[in-house]
Amino acid sequence: MPELPEVETVRRSLEQQLPEAILRRVQLRSRGLRWPFQKDLEHRLAGAAITCFARRGKYLLLHGDRAETLIVHLGMTGTFTVYDGAVKRPAAHDHVLFVLADGRTLVYNDPRRFGSMELVRTDALPSHPVIGRLGPEPVAEDFDAAVLAESLRGRRCSIKAALLNQHLVAGVGNIYACEALHRARISPRVPAGSLATRTGRPTPRCRRLAPAIKSILERAIAAGGSTLRDFAAPDGAAGAYPSSFRVYGRDGLRCRRNGCDGVIRVFTQQGRSTFVCPRCQRS
Ligand SMILES: [Zn+2]
Repeated sequence: MPELPEVETVRRSLEQQLPEAILRRVQLRSRGLRWPFQKDLEHRLAGAAITCFARRGKYLLLHGDRAETLIVHLGMTGTFTVYDGAVKRPAAHDHVLFVLADGRTLVYNDPRRFGSMELVRTDALPSHPVIGRLGPEPVAEDFDAAVLAESLRGRRCSIKAALLNQHLVAGVGNIYACEALHRARISPRVPAGSLATRTGRPTPRCRRLAPAIKSILERAIAAGGSTLRDFAAPDGAAGAYPSSFRVYGRDGLRCRRNGCDGVIRVFTQQGRSTFVCPRCQRS
């Protein structure tokens, strides 16, 4: 599943390829993705210009010139591709064709159809049931240990579960949660609330974790997202991050931390694989 760095990579690629995206028309080729498309979606998007490609957590926000925003989630297998010219014979799973005024076509393909698209009024985004409830943006300039501690304060779930909770931190998924906890030398099992004091101040572990989350996501963005199955940026470029994973997918292999001779183990938390070095992530 694309996580924040992959979605950011898609956003940057769209922004670069489509600096002036005027939608001549939009063609829906199926009834919906994860949910049915809005009935008036084609009509409302026809003739609109996309003025800004933004992102919030794992969601792309295509802001239009009519005070409306298309919220896009790529689900498990959603991809955007920009084609020069018209797409006369759409491929299987090409569910949405955005025909651009400059003659090109932006195609949304999604074999498993776990993605979503919803057009909303831009000024209603803060009260949107999903977007409005997302936690702090971990690559934002003001994201730090104090912000993270405020999110974790009083939480009795594990820190791993807290990092995956989009209401507490936006955009972090399983891979980068494992990587950040390893980098910060924190056991995925510790209660999330133990990283904040009773008054909501960050503990030393929280002061290690916040910059770890940020730097891992920033490095992944710089590398162009990961090449996990099915992910590719709209220009066809695949990311290069997995080669630098330190725990994810490395069960049975030696820990990559200098001076640590631990062996990476995997176990299941909330149905997701957690990769951990039992030696340097003891508490
Ligand atoms: Zn280790």
